[in-house]
Amino acid sequence: MRIIHRVACWYDEPAERLREIGLDCPQTPVGIGRDMLVLDIDEADPRWPEIKAVLDACGIMTTVRTEFTPAKIHSAQWLAMEPDWHHGYPMPDSGFGYRDLTYDLTDYCAKCGIGTRQKAPFRMRREPKWGRKGLMQLNWVFDEFFALSAVWKTVFAPFGIGARPVLAYRKETELKTVVQLCIDPILDVELHMKDHPFNICEFCQRKKYLPFVRGMFPALTRPVEGVHAVRSQEWFGDGASAYRAILVSGELARRLLAMKVRGCLFAPLAQC
Ligand SMILES: [Zn+2]
Repeated sequence: MRIIHRVACWYDEPAERLREIGLDCPQTPVGIGRDMLVLDIDEADPRWPEIKAVLDACGIMTTVRTEFTPAKIHSAQWLAMEPDWHHGYPMPDSGFGYRDLTYDLTDYCAKCGIGTRQKAPFRMRREPKWGRKGLMQLNWVFDEFFALSAVWKTVFAPFGIGARPVLAYRKETELKTVVQLCIDPILDVELHMKDHPFNICEFCQRKKYLPFVRGMFPALTRPVEGVHAVRSQEWFGDGASAYRAILVSGELARRLLAMKVRGCLFAPLAQC
């Protein structure tokens, strides 16, 4: 298990100082006359304390993730399925207009983001540029996965997971290469969140855990059987963003891995 810090910032000062510590700092052009520094650093790297001091001094935050050994992933009974990329925005994106169009907002709290309930298909600007990937998430929407239609048919449908159409924005016609996975059941089993930090919304008083990024994902408090993809009853997120964790059975995760479906990562749940 490795804890990885992703640095993504403007190139200039941090790169110069990180090179002095001996890090390789490739420049990533972003087409606006400035380059970015995009770097993954293992927390077990002996230089990590020095690296962290530089990042702190430059005011740079990292995104943390945990990488698991294939053996750990293959032996898990349940896993959190997470995106390894986000592509495009839910439409209309202006003023977050997709929210009214896509969700019933009766229980929604604008302060913490909890309480959306889908009422209509998502709209995308156009067919996704899939490359070699078969799964994706939209930016801003952290608890919905979209699959290549063929991947849904061959991998997800045999596990009893349905699909919703995705519409082309304005045209309102169904897109051909993409469907939304219907991962609708909300677990009636709690997760062992232990002392994981959370916030209580000052407006709606509901609880939201900070994103879980370090180590094994929290265990189920009792076994879950008979389904292959569910969402957690707990809400996660920071600020105005809220999402439920998407959990999949070991069988489904292993099928995705065997079929080499790209676009997601897995975090095994600890055993209950
Ligand atoms: Zn709230």
